[in-house]
Order: sequence, then C-alpha cells, then structure tokens
Amino acid sequence: MTSEPSRISRRIAAIAESATLKVDAKAKALQAQGRPVISYAAGEPDFVTPSNVVDAASAAVLDPRNYRYTPAAGLPELREAIAVKTLRDSGLAVDASQVVVTNGGKQAVYQAFATLVDDGDEVILPSPYWTTYPEVIKLAGGVPVEVFAGADQGYLVTVEQLEAARTPKTKLLVFVSPSNPTGAVYSPEQTAAIGQWALEHGIWVITDEIYQNLVYSPADSPDSPPVKAVSIVEAVPDLANQAILVNGVAKSYAMTGWRLGWMVGPADAIKGAANLQSHLSSNVSNISQRAALAALTGPQETVELMRQAFQRRRNVIIEELNKIDGVVAPMPDGAFYAYADVRALLGRSWGGVIATSSLELADLILEQAEVAVVPGEAFGPSGYLRLSYALGDEPLLEGIQRLQQLFA
Ligand code: GLU
Repeated sequence: MTSEPSRISRRIAAIAESATLKVDAKAKALQAQGRPVISYAAGEPDFVTPSNVVDAASAAVLDPRNYRYTPAAGLPELREAIAVKTLRDSGLAVDASQVVVTNGGKQAVYQAFATLVDDGDEVILPSPYWTTYPEVIKLAGGVPVEVFAGADQGYLVTVEQLEAARTPKTKLLVFVSPSNPTGAVYSPEQTAAIGQWALEHGIWVITDEIYQNLVYSPADSPDSPPVKAVSIVEAVPDLANQAILVNGVAKSYAMTGWRLGWMVGPADAIKGAANLQSHLSSNVSNISQRAALAALTGPQETVELMRQAFQRRRNVIIEELNKIDGVVAPMPDGAFYAYADVRALLGRSWGGVIATSSLELADLILEQAEVAVVPGEAFGPSGYLRLSYALGDEPLLEGIQRLQQLFA
C-alpha cells in the first residue's frame, strides 16, 4: 500500500481552531440571525476605545508619513513609550531596541515561542491555560507539559508542582498573572518563588502581562487598593536575561480590533524575533501604532473607569454564579474572566439532556438558555466553564439569571 502524501503539513494539520474565537464567532452569528444570545465568550471589552486614541488615529490617517513601510520592529517613538511603560509597570529597565511591536499580543506570543523553542524542547504550561499556548508551542516543535491547579488551590501552581514536571529537556515556563482563563493573580511571594526556581534551573520564562493593569481590590476588603500583579522580572531581576514579556493595548484600552501588541526581552532574543517578523508581517499598521502611542502616553482616566466597571461586574458575576447549586467560582483578582468549576453539574439531566463534559454542557447552555460560554476543554481539563465579564452590566446579569433558571 502506498501512503498518500499529506496535502497540508503535519504541523498545521495538528492544530485546532482557536476555541475562544470559535465560540465568539458562533455567538455573533446567532445574534446576527436575531437570536437573543448573551455572550460571555471572548475576552473583549464592550467599551469604545478612548477618544484621545481615536483622535490620534484619525490624524494619522491624514498624515502621509504613515502611508509607507516603517521599521519592522515598530515606530521608534512607540518602542520608546513601551520601554517607559515596561519600567513603570513591570519594573524592568529596557532600551527601546529591546521592544518589538507586533500585530496584537497573539503575534508576540507566537514569535516568542518560535524564537526560543527547538524541536523536542519541553515547555511547562500551568493549566488552565489560554487556548492558544499549546498550539503555538507545538507549532514551534515544542512539547507542552501541563501542570494543573484546580479551584481548590485558587488555580495557582506551586513551585513543588513545577519542580515535579521539570526534566533535562525543560526549556521554558509560561507564566501568566493575572491569568486567562482563571483571573488568578500570584502574590509577590509566589511570583518570586517561581521566578527564583526558573532562574536557578536556567529555564526561560515567557510571561504574558496583557492583563497586568486589570487588577481589583481583594473581595474581602473592597475599599483597599487593587492587588498588584508583580512582574516576574520585577520579583527576580536576574531573570531578565532569560525572560520575554508579552503585552499590548487590547484589554486595558478597549482596543482588541486595533491589533497592537509587543514583546520585550534580552537583545539576542528580540533581534531574532524582529528578524522573524521582518519576513512574516513587516511593520504593524502605522495607524494602529500611532493610536497605541496616544493610548500609552495620553490621559489614563478612562482606563481607570473601565477597570472600576470590570471590578463591579466581577463582584456581580461571582456572587450570582455561586448561587447556582453545583457551581464553584473562586473570586478572581484580575483579568475579566470567571472560571467556574461545574463538575457537579455533569451527568445530570437538564431539560431532558445529560451533559457528561463541559463541552456538552456549554452546548446545552447555548441551546437551552441562549448563553455562550467557553468550555474548560479549551483551556485544559473538562469540568469548567469560562465566562468573560467584559460585557455590559445588564446582559451580564440577565445571562446569569438564565443559567440560574436552567440549573434550578
Ligand atoms: N484573548 C481573548 C480570549 O481569550 C480573545 C480571543 C482570543 O484571542 O483567544 O477570549
């Protein structure tokens, strides 16, 4: 028997469509058909982009300087502004040459793994993880090694768990705080312990800091300041030579559609990533870059108002979710996701249908309650649902009430 040559590459054939984008697209398509679907699917703020940012973009459209190719790694003034932000928020002093501006944080994630991972390298991936990481690790030829932390440990992995997963092939750790999908934030002490462990073992860290400014007051003391998501390179400064920071304007500035992210790291890794980008996509749209410059250097009041709205919505969604018998939703300190443990709802009959996995449960919820949520299978083990609370206050509450009725 002759084996058919495969039509598309094995690497591409092995990856799945982004589950978050898939559920989001399905919800939006149903809404377009007139179905009253309430969507907690994509992590996408419902706010409009701040007006000073939109004004800067409008001016940029009229400025012929922006009509031509610019340096692939980004506009010099934007790279400078990102360096300033990195020092302010991540405690890391970098030169503008250590920044690459990317088409959204997602491209920075892709380029970071592509730059560091060789065939067979193991990448320790705390789970639940954002749906894109394992696919990108595999695309780079790496092997994701999942380390699971459940609701009982606040979705936070320990150094002991990481150490148990370490082998001579371990190249890299993924560290995300606040986490997508759980919203969990590591304490400064936990962050330092994990960073110290990586440093001692010569393990690179890719740290995704896209939610670093979306942090909230502790639930038990609502009047105190928000918790701080300390950057792992601030907690362990010596780690800077083996760490890549990923970030972007999408989440804090309500700019998901502008596609503007970046990566920051040591000179050799950043040079490599910039070389890759020079072949892959060249410069990010100059209009988006000018808009991001305005976002980072302009007034920040709107950003703070959005953060406060997310904090209010967090309190509502967690309180309401936990009223459902069989749902355990820990209070997250950051990002805009509730990650509910729904294992107790599985195997039971709801409206005549039995869901045996969170994938089936999410389908059942969409079918019977017209509510879109992302099943835990997109982020690791079955038995969980992710709900983004970046939607308006009214639909936010109505959707949970539909769930309360469905599971009454
Ligand atoms: N990062 C967001 C989410 O997790 C947007 C969708 C995506 O890029 O995966 O929902």
